[in-house]
Amino acid sequence: TALTAETLLEGLNDPQQQAVRHEGVPLLVVAGAGSGKTRVLTRRIAWLIAVRKAHPGSILAITFTNKAAAEMKERVSELVGNRARMMWVSTFHSSCVRILRKEVEHLGYERLKSNFSIYDAQDQKRLIQLVCSDMELDPRRFQPGPILHWISNHKNELRGPDEVAAEARNSIDETYAAAYKSYQRRLREANAVDFDDLIMETVRLFQLKPEIRETYRRRFRHILVDEYQDTNHAQYALIHQLCGQDLEEHDPTTLDGLPADRVPPAELMVVGDADQSIYAFRGADIRNIMDFEKDFPDARTILLEQNYRSTQTILTAANAVIERNEGRKPKRLWSDAGDGEKIVGYVADTEHDEARFVSTEIDALTDQGLKPSDVAVFYRTNAQSRVFEEIFIRTGLPYKVVGGVRFYERREIRDALAYLRMLVNPDDQVSLRRILNTPKRGIGDRAVLAITMFADRERITFWEALQRAAEAPGLATRSQTNIEGFVAMVVELQQMVAAGERPDVVLETVLDRSGYLASLEGSDDPQDATRVENLGELVAVAREFAEDPVAAPSADPADVDAGLVEPGLADFLERVALVADSDQIPDAPADDAADPDAPEDQGVVTLMTLHTAKGLEFPVVFLTGLEDGVFPHSRALGDKPELEEERRLAYVGITRARQRLYISRAVVRSAWGAPAHNPGSRFLGELPIDLVDWRRTEADQTRWTRPSYGSSDDYSGNRLGAPNAAGRRNFSSAAARADAAAKSKPSRPIPVLAPGDKVTHDSFGLGTVVAVEGAAEKSVASIDFGSDGVKRLLLRYAPVEKL
Ligand code: ATP
Ligand code: MG
Repeated sequence: TALTAETLLEGLNDPQQQAVRHEGVPLLVVAGAGSGKTRVLTRRIAWLIAVRKAHPGSILAITFTNKAAAEMKERVSELVGNRARMMWVSTFHSSCVRILRKEVEHLGYERLKSNFSIYDAQDQKRLIQLVCSDMELDPRRFQPGPILHWISNHKNELRGPDEVAAEARNSIDETYAAAYKSYQRRLREANAVDFDDLIMETVRLFQLKPEIRETYRRRFRHILVDEYQDTNHAQYALIHQLCGQDLEEHDPTTLDGLPADRVPPAELMVVGDADQSIYAFRGADIRNIMDFEKDFPDARTILLEQNYRSTQTILTAANAVIERNEGRKPKRLWSDAGDGEKIVGYVADTEHDEARFVSTEIDALTDQGLKPSDVAVFYRTNAQSRVFEEIFIRTGLPYKVVGGVRFYERREIRDALAYLRMLVNPDDQVSLRRILNTPKRGIGDRAVLAITMFADRERITFWEALQRAAEAPGLATRSQTNIEGFVAMVVELQQMVAAGERPDVVLETVLDRSGYLASLEGSDDPQDATRVENLGELVAVAREFAEDPVAAPSADPADVDAGLVEPGLADFLERVALVADSDQIPDAPADDAADPDAPEDQGVVTLMTLHTAKGLEFPVVFLTGLEDGVFPHSRALGDKPELEEERRLAYVGITRARQRLYISRAVVRSAWGAPAHNPGSRFLGELPIDLVDWRRTEADQTRWTRPSYGSSDDYSGNRLGAPNAAGRRNFSSAAARADAAAKSKPSRPIPVLAPGDKVTHDSFGLGTVVAVEGAAEKSVASIDFGSDGVKRLLLRYAPVEKL
């Protein structure tokens, strides 16, 4: 292919080109959303290979999701061809798995071997429950969730259990530290690691074995990191290790005394946007990007300021919101895409009304020629998807939920995977115990207890104890026979795996031989029929993998090419373990698809949380649930750092939109079954008024909930085409229900206000009344809350007190 430097720089502006061509010192590209950071990173990889003749195998690029990695690989392949297969483009976790699979034995854990299992959130929870009951912890004081979160925080800070124990200052810390220690021990005994371990142990490996670190330093001459603002300390340390810049060595004056054969540092490029850091709760440290220039004193920084994604209206809105955060470097994004459409705002009576508005509006948009796949609906928490799903199902709008109850979290899928994991790694107790009596095969709790005690006494693993069940005291003969049958089955299946049988074949055999499939098929629970279908889907996933193993993020293409890696069961499990939420986004139909009119090319509407939306873009975005207490999350209302993180999340949400942005909120929303009145999100007040076309305001809402307003014609009937009968019925009843619920609340005197009065509001704080309309139940006050802006509040609901 005639790939010239010019073609690789085509469609890039000047600073973008500089970033692609840059050589030598560490490079930081900081820029707002949609300014082409990811595009630059991708082009740079192609540039390194095609122009600078870097070996593809010497390139390590880190993305935030596996899906982003696959896309990046694809793009680079389009540019430089098949050689691109040799690069490592993957998430931090996938890269570390690949390193650990090769090197884990050097860590010196007796039981941790290269076939280790990767425990996910549910496995972790089971394990910590075992720890808690072992330690006889009071379940009211010590709950699995907080303990796991605490452990995770320490791991992200690279603090192991002993270090943490040494620092414990009180008995609660000591208990947590002991739980951490026991949890780690059990993980290792199960030949397993959790997600945070993947990074922590890789860093530890490099610290422990400089010679191994050197081999990776020699290999990776170019390191590129996308979404750098969301790296945590452990990930940061890993980059430094790989770049030949250890944390303790990064002062260049200390480089003098190093051995002569030391590998010179790799070329590093990181791209990010501090305003989009939204994973502090997972330990992401915004300082990593803020301090880049300090950490790498000779670094070069390139700023990108032109946004190519959104209209100016959308950008101005995003800028106005994020400007409220303190201590950020001001930057002004601009776009020459023109002002575009105004932002559309909608105040709904209830969450059902909000969902109906979204659905009706999408209908109208598709009538105008947009595809469902052009549209995304964002919300703050997973649970909010359900209402949208209900209405989309009713109106026949095709959609996909990213996150939520995911495919891989379904019971039958987890059971099937537990079988496979236990075959690859019989020390994996959590998996083994999960399927030991699933389906029921007469191995009850008493038998499990007897085996557990026997294993403890003999200091052998649970699996070894099962194999020696005949020696276990207190085991009923019938249980013993059943266990022997189980062990024989497992051994037989293990032989299949050892013989290198394809994962899909193994899976089908497991489902058959274990009786699992038969037990579902024999059931008359309709849910079990769905379960059978889901298992069929899993077999299909395994088959796809077996047929194209290189697509697996875990496979090192160099090894596959050399015939070193069989697309075996272990690799399949790894791929499954690493699937992140956003990997479930269906691929957008290709623009050059054969028949653009075919309905299957229209794709589906994407529903997802704001967190999952990072890095993506859609022509049309609905930002929903903009209510104080929902978004920003109630947890953040009284906490400035948390509120600023929520504001960054709003910035991420707004900047996903290319052409049209909708913002909406519900006046009454059911949370945990009880209707709650939430004031509008403070972020709404931060949007410049003239950018938003409020199709329906709180004042409209006041009239609407008045019973006498009747059913003449509702708002959307006028402007958006008549909703279908079912939708309308649901709407009226939801509104009526909400109204009734609100009325049945213990009544609170409605404050009587006049212009000039001072008030306090639960969320907005101190304000001054500007105007009042209506009376009694219908009185609406406009109140100036200073930096939060002027709000129109229905006094019947608003948590306002006259001072
Ligand atoms: P985010 O911060 O949201 O991750 P980003 O900075 O990574 O955004 P990209 O996703 O790389 O931005 O680019 C945003 C959009 O702009 C993409 O559709 C990309 O193809 C397009 N784009 C980037 N640079 C240019 C350019 N120079 N000319 C035309 N389009 C561009
Ligand atoms: Mg990006």
